[in-house]
Amino acid sequence: MSFALLDRARRNIGVRLSLWYAAIFTLSTVALLALAYYLLVAAIGNKDREVLRARLREYAAVYDAGGLPALRRSIRQEDGGQKTYFVRLASAWNDVSFANVPDDWITFKDIPAGLAGYRQRVGVIRIPKNAERDFLIASAVLPDDSLLQVGCSTGSREVLLDPVRRNFAIVGGCTVVLGFVFGALFAQRATQPIRQVVATARSIIQTGRLDARVPVRKSDDELDELVRLVNSLLDRNEALIRAMRESLDNVAHDLRTPLTRLRGTAELALQSDAEPVAAREALADCVEESERVLNMLNTLMDITEAEAGMMRLQLQRVDLCQLVREVVELYEYVADERKVTVQTDLLAPCETTADRNRLRQVVANLLDNALKYTPAGGRVTISVTDEPEKAVVKIRDSGIGIPPEEQGKIWLRLYRGDKSRSQRGLGLGLSLVKAVVTAHHGEVTVASRVGDGAEFSVTLPKTKAASTPPILVT
Ligand code: ADP
Repeated sequence: MSFALLDRARRNIGVRLSLWYAAIFTLSTVALLALAYYLLVAAIGNKDREVLRARLREYAAVYDAGGLPALRRSIRQEDGGQKTYFVRLASAWNDVSFANVPDDWITFKDIPAGLAGYRQRVGVIRIPKNAERDFLIASAVLPDDSLLQVGCSTGSREVLLDPVRRNFAIVGGCTVVLGFVFGALFAQRATQPIRQVVATARSIIQTGRLDARVPVRKSDDELDELVRLVNSLLDRNEALIRAMRESLDNVAHDLRTPLTRLRGTAELALQSDAEPVAAREALADCVEESERVLNMLNTLMDITEAEAGMMRLQLQRVDLCQLVREVVELYEYVADERKVTVQTDLLAPCETTADRNRLRQVVANLLDNALKYTPAGGRVTISVTDEPEKAVVKIRDSGIGIPPEEQGKIWLRLYRGDKSRSQRGLGLGLSLVKAVVTAHHGEVTVASRVGDGAEFSVTLPKTKAASTPPILVT
């Protein structure tokens, strides 16, 4: 394996996770098997001790009842000459009066005298003197002060535990290998979304294609949440960049005409034979034109900001009725001039959380349009309705109305209806209205019939506008 491949494997989170998993799994398996082995050895040991104690009690009772001959008989009968158990009877001075030593306790045959040391002990004694196996000895001091000892070899235990150890080693080895293989598979599968996020980011950087997205699985875990968040981040970025490009195109396109006009007027003013009065008028036109350009740029910037979800709203409690009254007051002069009656239907205060200045812009734009597109003698009605969850502002006019085929387009930037060309305007008012209302998580709709006026409804949620701005796709 080359160094580069090793380095890649080292930096692969899936490989690292599998190694950690395998290490923890191996340790846990070894610990579990060791515990199981220990418990098994302890259980067998306890059983041996119990059997030995029972035998000691039995021989003590036989000796008590019939003395040494009875004990001899009993051992012979039970053992059938097999000498399975070691039995030893010694006096208080350690004179051995009886010893039954199994044939295979060869090394033990010389030892019995040494067992005198165990005289005072009652219970199970382990003798680790034999190099090959251990012995368990149970001792009891009998009523005549002699010492009765019963013992057995632990060799049979080894015969039982040997295959257990072998099997444990095989099972442990297989479990660790399988654990590593399946752990690696699961780790690779679990970390797949991370690799896909990396691949998507790399492809966007390398190809510049903003529409690449990370595939979404349906497991609904944290990594899926991460994938969804990354995708919505990419959506937002794409919308932002698209809006910026469009704005740039629009600005470039729409500035050309007024700027050409501005230059023409300025050139006229500069002509040496121009009358001072004419030159003044031309300069005044220039100022007006540049005001218009500036206004257009500011509105375009506002729309772009709102559409990209970056408009900073100064949220506060706003009484919509009061706000509408203020705007109507501002347009009183325009309404008088155009001979249009403005009527309001504002009963109780209607509070909502919103950006006061932005909402004022919304109502002003809609009222401005209503006055602009309503002939003299017409009527504009503004009402505010307070509902439990929302507040609705309706601006209705008795003007020229909007043809059905134009109703979807009027929200587009720089769109102007066929019949409205005679009126002043930039075609940006409704785009701004929609962008600001959407930034407040609200909705603006229109209902209109040609010749029968138009009604614009702005619906605003009453709860505090959410901190995450919505993405607006135009
Ligand atoms: P502008 O009014 O500057 O043209 P807007 O974005 O405000 O731009 O409106 C876009 C178009 O929608 C207008 O050109 C007009 O055709 C139509 N419109 C808007 N408001 C009304 C209205 N109250 N009555 C009739 N037409 C309207």
